[in-house]
Amino acid sequence: MVQSLVDFARGKLAALEQQQLRRVLVDTERLEGAVAIRNGRQLVSFACNDYLNLSQHPVVKQAASEAIERYGVGSGASRLVTGNHPLFRELEMRLAALKGTDDACVFGSGYLANLGIIPALIGPGDLLLADELSHACLLAAGTLCKADVMIFRHNDLGHLSALLQENRGDYLRAMIVTDGVFSMDGDLAPVADMADLAAANDAWLMTDDAHGIGVLGGGRGSSFMDDEKAAVPLQMGTLSKAIGGYGGYLCASQSVIDLIRTRARTFIYSTGLPPASVAASIAALDLIAEYPDYAGLPMVKARLFCAAAGLPEPESCIVPLVMGEPARTLAASKMLEDEGFLVTAIRPPTVPDGTARLRFTFTAMHENDDILRLAELVKPLKQES
Ligand SMILES: *Cc1c(COP(=O)(O)O)cnc(C)c1O
Repeated sequence: MVQSLVDFARGKLAALEQQQLRRVLVDTERLEGAVAIRNGRQLVSFACNDYLNLSQHPVVKQAASEAIERYGVGSGASRLVTGNHPLFRELEMRLAALKGTDDACVFGSGYLANLGIIPALIGPGDLLLADELSHACLLAAGTLCKADVMIFRHNDLGHLSALLQENRGDYLRAMIVTDGVFSMDGDLAPVADMADLAAANDAWLMTDDAHGIGVLGGGRGSSFMDDEKAAVPLQMGTLSKAIGGYGGYLCASQSVIDLIRTRARTFIYSTGLPPASVAASIAALDLIAEYPDYAGLPMVKARLFCAAAGLPEPESCIVPLVMGEPARTLAASKMLEDEGFLVTAIRPPTVPDGTARLRFTFTAMHENDDILRLAELVKPLKQES
């Protein structure tokens, strides 16, 4: 019995190994700025989502330390039991203000937020429409909620509209989900137009703005790219990227947030975030509000890189270079590491087959010299692809 389990694991691993798809952990020490230490070597990392380098900011670290001193290291229970330390309220008020909503609800992580929100709002007899490149946790929530799931072609409003026209009438409720900024492609969803389309079809739009908050729209995210705020009723995201810490959130109207707090299972049945994480996010959001120009820096760096490497103008601080097969992508990543740069090779199933890629992320504290040196190394890779 037990042997069959071990055999199963070994067989799976061998198959993954053969396709160059096995993944292993590498100890990585991240220091201030964009420095990462791996295998005893100091590298400049273009592989972190810590876009504003706030995970190492002294003010943020100080806030986390003070929270530990006062409230301890853990929250002790679900927020609905005794885990709701007073810092949560403060953080939720800041998030709601940033996103222009009545209220916000903070979850343990972005993944947990999506797994909690979607099944709390739709279920059997309802319809979920998702962009084909939506983050894995949006698609996982689609399975979990037991609604019928339809996938629309990436950023294709015509396809989405056709699916709605053909199917909306067969379902009680309908929800549309998309990344605001696509995590592996770096492009933006047509959020404002999608919001109009959703409203016209009585469908509820949720954007996952994991890579938008803190860096786009003056730090307010992908719903704030135009003069007028896009009418997205469900703005979800994470505190683990530009905000520098950990945790997920939903910003929405009061009744929706009240419902989520009493019905989302990943909120009810999971322990509240540690006080230090919540305090760190509060401090980070305060810094973003205090220094609005700082939020724009990662985009400046991404533009500099793309111009120097001859790549198209970036839409976010994520820049992909599609290489095709995993082996070629891994070799390119290794070459860059030998030159002192940490750039992750992203392989299936994180991205579709045949689109393995290098994924570069830009942060406020990247040095221009490093960016230009990296661009020179990347140019020939691009010509081969
Ligand atoms: C990272 C990410 C998540 C998950 O957020 P965590 O807080 O890391 O769990 C969700 N959606 C998108 C688009 C992401 O990039």
